[in-house]
Amino acid sequence: MNRAQIKADCVFCKIASGEIPAKILYRDEEVFAFPDINPITPVHILVLSVKHIPSLAELPDKDTPLVAKMVRAANQIARQQGIAKSGYRLTINSGPDAGQLVPHLHIHLMGGRPLDWKH
Ligand code: AMP
Ligand code: ZN
Repeated sequence: MNRAQIKADCVFCKIASGEIPAKILYRDEEVFAFPDINPITPVHILVLSVKHIPSLAELPDKDTPLVAKMVRAANQIARQQGIAKSGYRLTINSGPDAGQLVPHLHIHLMGGRPLDWKH
């Protein structure tokens, strides 16, 4: 990964590089996934871009296909986790009003129980 695509003080970049350990559930050149450290549903997995993109709002137009690759990986993980049929939700929080805490593009994959609107 090009240095310019990694942000030194970003916790998710550190997980991407292996500096911070995590249980990696999926990995390819552009996308990776690991369980959320503070799960709010029985299955709660983060699916991320390897490249440091701060938020959906800051996604360069040329990187739009990356989001489709993240969704593809999330769908694959949902099947592996056995929740494809029971149902799941993909959420991307972008910016303060959405409650985005970590400024590195990620999808929350949530399921394993009936979900209300919030979670
Ligand atoms: P968001 O509010 O959409 O930015 O979500 C950030 C999520 O990252 C939260 O659900 C946190 O529980 C999760 N999180 C933060 N740090 C870690 C970490 N080191 N490993 C796994 N999940 C994390
Ligand atoms: Zn990052």
